[in-house]
Amino acid sequence: MGTSEVISMSGVNKWYGDFHVLKDINLSVKSGERIVVCGPSGSGKSTLIRCLNRLEEHQEGEINVDGIELTDNIKNIDAVRAEVGMVFQHFNLFPHLSVLDNCTLAPIWVKKTAKAEAEALGMKYLERVRIGEQAHKYPGQLSGGQQQRVAIARALCMTPKIMLFDEPTSALDPEMVKEVLDTMVDLAKEGMTMLCVTHEMGFAKAVADRVIFMDQGEIVEQNEPNAFFDNPQNERTKEFLNQIL
Ligand code: ADP
Ligand code: MG
Repeated sequence: MGTSEVISMSGVNKWYGDFHVLKDINLSVKSGERIVVCGPSGSGKSTLIRCLNRLEEHQEGEINVDGIELTDNIKNIDAVRAEVGMVFQHFNLFPHLSVLDNCTLAPIWVKKTAKAEAEALGMKYLERVRIGEQAHKYPGQLSGGQQQRVAIARALCMTPKIMLFDEPTSALDPEMVKEVLDTMVDLAKEGMTMLCVTHEMGFAKAVADRVIFMDQGEIVEQNEPNAFFDNPQNERTKEFLNQIL
């Protein structure tokens, strides 16, 4: 694991109208760190990670991603999104584009990569998530697990420094969860900096350097996985773990 800080959140607060969704969040992530974020539905997990690529804006505090301060200055947004890949629960692939075209769209249009080069890169990452042979199909012709692996490859095609995952397996049929988790484990082993919102505790134990528990907009507790699962300190953490384990 590297030692340089790639994400820093300091005193971050966010409201949706008068609903206080993130409360004084302080978080520092080092290059190569793998973080799992868990907590009850509605605790602010998605909002927290969406603030890191500015799909959501915070109102108070500071967020710095790979040296870029996230402010109201709109010029930062493309630079940040080039550094931060995101994978969603519902894949969000473009249904009218082939798998390969899903992968080349952003490199061609955002990074101005030449088409042939973008296609070579797309094939490289599709093969890495073991789906190269599906490159010319459309998303609707693939299983959920395959579509999610395409979504991971598509994010990797922007060669991000950080990957954010928001419950990437929770919309999948049980038999497809493992193939997506295996892909995420591979990425973790390659040293990718990852923030994963997931309740897959096997994944957390296998790859996370740190597990963060959120409740009601706060980071309530964080620890390395064994201590987190075997010896939770906070009552709210204990209650949550009792429900999911
Ligand atoms: P989690 O991912 O932990 O389930 P979210 O970050 O999605 O939590 O949501 C936290 C809370 O904020 C929830 O109560 C949710 O209803 C509310 N919320 C999320 N997005 C919005 C929005 N765009 N406008 C208003 N409230 C929202
Ligand atoms: Mg969520």
